[in-house]
Amino acid sequence: MDLNTVRQVKSPIFPDEIADWPTGHAWLAGGTWLMSEPQLGVDTLVDLHGFGWPELTISDDGIEIAATCTIETLANVVGPPEWPAAPLLPDCAHALLMSFKVAGVATVGGNICMSLPAGAMVSLTVALEANYLLWPREGAPRTVAARDFVTGNHANILAPGELLRSVHIPASALEKRYAIRRASLTKLGRSAALLIGTSGPQGDLLLTITAATPRPVQLNFPRPPSADEMRAAIDAAIPADGFFDDVNGTPAYKRHLTYHFAEDIRAELAALGSGA
Ligand SMILES: Cc1cc2nc3c(=O)[nH]c(=O)nc-3n(C[C@H](O)[C@H](O)[C@H](O)COP(=O)(O)OP(=O)(O)OC[C@H]3O[C@@H](n4cnc5c(N)ncnc54)[C@H](O)[C@@H]3O)c2cc1C
Repeated sequence: MDLNTVRQVKSPIFPDEIADWPTGHAWLAGGTWLMSEPQLGVDTLVDLHGFGWPELTISDDGIEIAATCTIETLANVVGPPEWPAAPLLPDCAHALLMSFKVAGVATVGGNICMSLPAGAMVSLTVALEANYLLWPREGAPRTVAARDFVTGNHANILAPGELLRSVHIPASALEKRYAIRRASLTKLGRSAALLIGTSGPQGDLLLTITAATPRPVQLNFPRPPSADEMRAAIDAAIPADGFFDDVNGTPAYKRHLTYHFAEDIRAELAALGSGA
């Protein structure tokens, strides 16, 4: 789409080339959302690609993902055998409603900053206990837990002009076992519910509920929960009117999926834990 309100595109090499942040500025990553609908309030795009950040850095500490890493690059990561949760990266990349053309340019950071309920890069990074490195316009960089970043549908904690620089997924989360469930009303539709469970050697369970709710909900069970305990924890965390209402499903449908998938995940991880 031709954004006819845009008067200039800046392509800085260093972040401090952007001295101020007047209303109308927007960071440009892959542009797959920015160019997909009118942006009447935007007159200046600031392209992130000139910064030249390495897309992925894999070390014993985990995975460092630049905000500008494409979703396609992430989908091609193959982790070492000691990271059983690494296949979650392609699983979540493929959970997005995207053609290969979009996946080749859409970025991990753009998806996170969109902060849509069906933003699978949010689902992935919350489930894998990631931290985000943010660069405010003023002051020192700050680190936030992925689970605290999204505050609602298309809403997050970024201040105007603040930049998501990178995402760090710790090795300790990649060493866990995982189970994932997703549903969409249509075969190639956006996610109506995307749930991920991860479990460590003690049988602890971290359940991440996304897409069904406006923002991620995470439940932490230090010991393997029973089916009743899990259902009670969901009820305590999400009121009946706390499910996301949109064309991808009614709140009642999404609540049903949440119970169903949570139980599936609990049972699958419990069976793996007992060696079944
Ligand atoms: C066909 C199609 C299907 C889609 N399906 C989905 C889907 O299933 N789920 C979903 O969540 N989205 C979907 N989208 C929306 C969007 O394309 C994706 O969220 C995509 O990942 C956005 O990434 P991008 O790099 O293209 O972001 P851009 O379009 O470049 O930017 C998106 C927003 O994030 C801001 N931004 C980008 N990077 C940063 C950064 N590092 N720091 C601060 N702000 C930043 C931009 O200013 C802008 O406001 C879809 C879009 C299309 C066209």
